[in-house]
Amino acid sequence: MPKLIIANWKLNPSTLKEAQKLAGSIKKVRKNTVVLCPPHIYLSQVKYPNLGAQDCFWQDRGAYTGQVSPQQLKDLKVKYCLVGHSERRQVGETDAQVNFKIHALLEHAIIPVLCVGFGTTAEEDDLAVVDILRQQLDQGLNGLDTSKIIVAYEPVWAIGSGKTPAPEHAEKVSLFIKTKYQVSKVLYGGSANLLNAQSFISQRNVDGLLVGGDSLIPNHFNQIINY
Ligand code: PEP
Repeated sequence: MPKLIIANWKLNPSTLKEAQKLAGSIKKVRKNTVVLCPPHIYLSQVKYPNLGAQDCFWQDRGAYTGQVSPQQLKDLKVKYCLVGHSERRQVGETDAQVNFKIHALLEHAIIPVLCVGFGTTAEEDDLAVVDILRQQLDQGLNGLDTSKIIVAYEPVWAIGSGKTPAPEHAEKVSLFIKTKYQVSKVLYGGSANLLNAQSFISQRNVDGLLVGGDSLIPNHFNQIINY
């Protein structure tokens, strides 16, 4: 079964030239579907078969300084868009805003990747984690056709920390999300890297990965997308 591997470059790299070089060094594989999410400003000039955005606004035009609309992303052939990443929630993004964004993306046939896991800690057991996710999922997915939506389970404490939960935990949570919300795929994210990627994607209900840090290292990412 092919997996979906999404690279979240965050606020990297610093120049367009470096972004083009990085994209050019990522292999085009048949085995899995690979999506690169560079910063918005590079989207029109980075070449790769599947491009994603890291965020969007929910209105298509108007007096919204600094925002980027789903319509503009569609015009740049963007196919996927992350929504509700922990680093956005950290600066105040709410579940209601996440929900608006997903509605807007679906209107332009861009596949939303709803990130959940903000507010979890490494100490909680599976049930407590699921309780936290339930609120983000109930509100984020409110009124939507969930079969068109991908969810990325990203325990916030694992993002960029080098720490990860057990792959069996990711499997249990993914199964819960799929069974309760009927979404199209569930990905795992949070310090996924060259060494642990296979243990996550070999789980039956983990349909792929959202990779931050290791997606900036071509030698590592090229191996991850080839598992
Ligand atoms: C992310 O940005 O979604 C992420 C998972 O980052 P990292 O792989 O660096 O933890």
